[in-house]
Amino acid sequence: MKEFDYVIIGGGCAGLSLAYELEIHQKLKNKTLAIIEPRPEYKRDKTWSFWKVAPHNFDDCVKKSWENFSINIPNKTNHLECKDYPYQSIDSGLFYKKINNKLKENSNISFFKSIEEISKKNSFIFNSVPIIKKNHLNLWQHFCGVEIETKNDFFDEEIFNLMDFDCEQRDSVHFFYTLPFTKNKALVETTWLSKMNDNSQKDYDSQIKNYITNHLKIKDYEIIYKEEGAIPLFYPFNVREKNKINIGTAGGMTRLSTGYTFLNIQKHSKYIRENIENISNSKKFEIEKKYQFLDDIFLRVLKKHPEKMSDIFFKMFKASPKTVIKFLSNKSNFFEDLKIILKMPKWIFIKALFD
Ligand SMILES: Cc1cc2nc3c(=O)[nH]c(=O)nc-3n(C[C@H](O)[C@H](O)[C@H](O)COP(=O)(O)OP(=O)(O)OC[C@H]3O[C@@H](n4cnc5c(N)ncnc54)[C@H](O)[C@@H]3O)c2cc1C
Repeated sequence: MKEFDYVIIGGGCAGLSLAYELEIHQKLKNKTLAIIEPRPEYKRDKTWSFWKVAPHNFDDCVKKSWENFSINIPNKTNHLECKDYPYQSIDSGLFYKKINNKLKENSNISFFKSIEEISKKNSFIFNSVPIIKKNHLNLWQHFCGVEIETKNDFFDEEIFNLMDFDCEQRDSVHFFYTLPFTKNKALVETTWLSKMNDNSQKDYDSQIKNYITNHLKIKDYEIIYKEEGAIPLFYPFNVREKNKINIGTAGGMTRLSTGYTFLNIQKHSKYIRENIENISNSKKFEIEKKYQFLDDIFLRVLKKHPEKMSDIFFKMFKASPKTVIKFLSNKSNFFEDLKIILKMPKWIFIKALFD
């Protein structure tokens, strides 16, 4: 069976981002790479959005970028600006196409559907397949979004809605998220933060329909795209082994309080590329410990007091948006962390520390 210097298991966001980063920095000129990806074909399946706090390789895959956003709870709306760190949405269809076209140019790179097709005993492995064990206490961010096209212009494409909590909470945390790509096209997503043990939360289609018709008051629209997913708000069980590094969700690149993963994947890819010559001895790349600690407390509060979370999110954004964005994007300094912490209801968070 054929052998390769590097094997990437899973050609999704993390696997392809890493392969692309290695390729464009000429790290695969004299090295061979196998990418193991079972999906029969690549097509748009996700919309990756984030505040652009760092450069990345995919500006040409950005579907839309915004400098304004809003967050609301019943009867209150907060309008915020994010000029310093625009919010970008990447179309996964464009991302897959761009990367696959580039990788095809290098004959050192091969694609396989299953790991059984190659010998991996002398390879360095980058694995992006998470090991998830069922645990009824674990929290998930689960969601479904549809891109709709309206007959008449309806949306203000200059401002997106990050969280609209003016909806049924069903003893969990629930909000809608709306990304207006043009005046008549937008992604409308229903999002839950929960243990995913209440199947009634998964009637996504009716939630979305109800929100579009009764809340946004749009009558005439067509669904042109749909995506669905569940992001674990806990670290998967993958561990680092000799000659193997976990990447993406499997590698702990998700910010557990928010589900944001895309930019962390890009930073990890860059780190691997910079250290590729001595990758076996490189230090483990992880989200800074202070965020792991703060997110852990945040999620304990969320589990115990889901009914308070809409207010907590709303209050958090009362700090300057730049500070909140830096905090949520792992870029904040000590004083900025403090500003966010001071916006939180103190006793609940202090109690959660000792739970
Ligand atoms: C619908 C959706 C929307 C999201 N939106 C955002 C967002 O807006 N912003 C953000 O920051 N994050 C977002 N995320 C979270 C995160 O960025 C994505 O999940 C991202 O795709 C994670 O990258 P990954 O490579 O770890 O996993 P994936 O992209 O899922 O890649 C894993 C790959 O492994 C393959 N695979 C599975 N089993 C095997 C196997 N046995 N052998 C080999 N390959 C296998 C899969 O086919 C897949 O291609 C979203 C997640 C989802 C699901």
